[in-house]
Amino acid sequence: MPSRITVERASTLRPVPAAKDLSFGTQFSDHMFLMDYHEGQGWHDPRIVPYADFHLSPAACVLHYGQAIFDGLKAFRGDDGVVRLFRPEAHAARLNRSAERLCMPRLDPEIVLESFQRLVDIDRRWIPTERGTSIYLRPTVIATENFLGVRPARSYRYFLILSPVGAYYAEGSAPVRILASEDHTRAVRGGLGAAKTAANYAASLYAAELAHKTGYTQVLWLDGVEHRYLEEVGTMNIMVKIGGKVLTPPLSDSILAGVTRDSVLSLLRSWGVEVEERPVAIDEIQAAARNGSLEEIWGTGTAAVISPVGEIGWRGEALIANDGKAGPLTRRLYDAITAIQYGAAAHNDWAMPVLPR
Ligand SMILES: *Cc1c(COP(=O)(O)O)cnc(C)c1O
Repeated sequence: MPSRITVERASTLRPVPAAKDLSFGTQFSDHMFLMDYHEGQGWHDPRIVPYADFHLSPAACVLHYGQAIFDGLKAFRGDDGVVRLFRPEAHAARLNRSAERLCMPRLDPEIVLESFQRLVDIDRRWIPTERGTSIYLRPTVIATENFLGVRPARSYRYFLILSPVGAYYAEGSAPVRILASEDHTRAVRGGLGAAKTAANYAASLYAAELAHKTGYTQVLWLDGVEHRYLEEVGTMNIMVKIGGKVLTPPLSDSILAGVTRDSVLSLLRSWGVEVEERPVAIDEIQAAARNGSLEEIWGTGTAAVISPVGEIGWRGEALIANDGKAGPLTRRLYDAITAIQYGAAAHNDWAMPVLPR
């Protein structure tokens, strides 16, 4: 079937930043993908156009009631020169789950995948080559109807932008100190926590600022009812290794189903590591830290892949894992996933090549 996507190329291409000048989410490639939805018409006009500002009415729904969803995934330039998207189907499927929760129209996953493929292909010169670097894809849907009443909007825009990102440390990032919050909640039972939506990020900022002021990098979110069970760390899923077993909270409507979380659990099971998806109380971490069985803690997410946690601050006590250093399983997971991402280890289901058209 011929592609319905139209392409308008930028007349001048901007200089691509050097790898050493890359950070996260500050620079954007030459083009973007747009597609619009109107009730009665459905999704229409999929197109790649030069990267530019949008025109939005001040009355656009998204600016008032936050009907906005997004996702985040990466493409990597392999040691063999091949560009690979990591688990793009899982991200497209999650975008649709977020859309459903926010009362937005479903997107055709094939078009979403094609938007990833075509835009990355067209802007492939923006993908840095150094190991550890990548290009980040940010697919987003916003409500564009000009209307101040409270109900789901009748028009939307899907857009996709690309941002080259720099390398973290060679073996993943350095261990972080995180603060368990008893006073603030990211998401509650029955709420939006399982959707990747702007509102969850807005809800997280205040507690994150308090944590930064006291010298911690991230917040360890506990459940919103008892403030006792682990949920997530910052914007990552959390895993702990205690007495040889890996524990992680089960998915629920207050936890985002991370693609990295799923990848890690599947690798651990294939390695024969014992894994339990069950509620993990902060008291259990405290007891393990005190009796010396708290072996490793890490967060999982697209940005850092595996982010080692050296210390949890809890009621004035420092709960320390592995002397505050990244543990062996943390490193093994980081190495295994990045090997698949850069094509050094084959994985046909997880790494999708972006073939030049
Ligand atoms: C995006 C996100 C994650 C990580 O998901 P990945 O698919 O692994 O990138 C975890 N928690 C929250 C709250 C998120 O928004």
